Amino acid sequence: MASGASRALPEGWRDWTWQMRNRIRNADDLAAWLSPTADEASAIAALADRFHFVITPYYASLMDPADPLCPIRRQVVPATAELDDPDGLRDPLDEVAHSPVKNVIRVYPDRIAFCVNNECALYCRYCLRKRMVGEKGWAMKQRELGEAIDWIRRTPEIRDVLLTGGDPLVYSDDRLEWLLAELRAIPHVEIVRIGSRLPVTLPFRVTDALCEMLAKYHPIWLNTHFNHPRELTADAEEACDRLTRAGIPVGNQSVLLRGVNDSVSVMKQLCEGLVRMRVRPYYCYQAQLLEGTAHFRVPIERGVEIFHALRGRTSGFAIPQYVLDTPYGKIPLAHPYLHGRDGDDVIVESYDGRIWRERNPK
Ligand code: SF4
Repeated sequence: MASGASRALPEGWRDWTWQMRNRIRNADDLAAWLSPTADEASAIAALADRFHFVITPYYASLMDPADPLCPIRRQVVPATAELDDPDGLRDPLDEVAHSPVKNVIRVYPDRIAFCVNNECALYCRYCLRKRMVGEKGWAMKQRELGEAIDWIRRTPEIRDVLLTGGDPLVYSDDRLEWLLAELRAIPHVEIVRIGSRLPVTLPFRVTDALCEMLAKYHPIWLNTHFNHPRELTADAEEACDRLTRAGIPVGNQSVLLRGVNDSVSVMKQLCEGLVRMRVRPYYCYQAQLLEGTAHFRVPIERGVEIFHALRGRTSGFAIPQYVLDTPYGKIPLAHPYLHGRDGDDVIVESYDGRIWRERNPK
């Protein structure tokens, strides 16, 4: 079994459409990359009609075939632990109830998440939208896209539109351009954000042609989703560099996942590696109470400890905000640095635990 680093790469490897056509979809395809463990083989069969199993050859090349606990493999190869999650919910953020029209999620007054596509290059086992990604009934028909755009046009408070999914960059350049042109024609839409994991899972999608097209519709922002330093490859770096050279600020939203990035050293390597690539660590999400993901969840206190340990020990802008997403919006989770008042002073704590008193301005 050869790893991606040592095997000869087939012709077409760097063509994103080749990658999409040659995705791993079953245990036999996976066997070309690694020998599935008994647990993985049985989970692939047991979960076949519950949550799609799809991996790009590029992302498979990052997996360690010799390590069943490999943090890349853990994110995308099914495990039987997914069948044992009594607390898991189908829609923990109540997104369906927050949708004024199909696939538009409104939690805040001025911005929406617009799930334009329900396809991804691969399917992450902890995906918050596993109820819809890859599922036929959630795909947006052209008429439904038009209805959603009409709703945005009729709702003048919406100034910030996040295109998400699924993954909007799975769209062809032409279809994405049509959508961006429609949104740009709405005067109250000030910014368009794109949420895409393709810089991580299929970096060849970020072509010069795509970036040139996106740059016509500024201000465009893009948030991607690196979870582990091993994902920070030369190809991923090139994709992020193309985006930033096109004037698109790139941020990262990771998820705190047991066995993937739930340690100070891994999180520090990830965040510092992102900053070296000029990608700003933006959020790290607490994993939701989502069906089939109990084995990924980390106690919130542990998450707070990890980000507290980073404070003062790396550049401040390399530390993402650790948040819990809820049906009421995102709640920042942080060590309590502000201890309270004492007379005219406030008592605060430094990164290394020293106490400071500061006169509180009246
Ligand atoms: S790329 Fe994002 S939307 Fe797609 S499966 Fe992964 S987490 Fe879900």
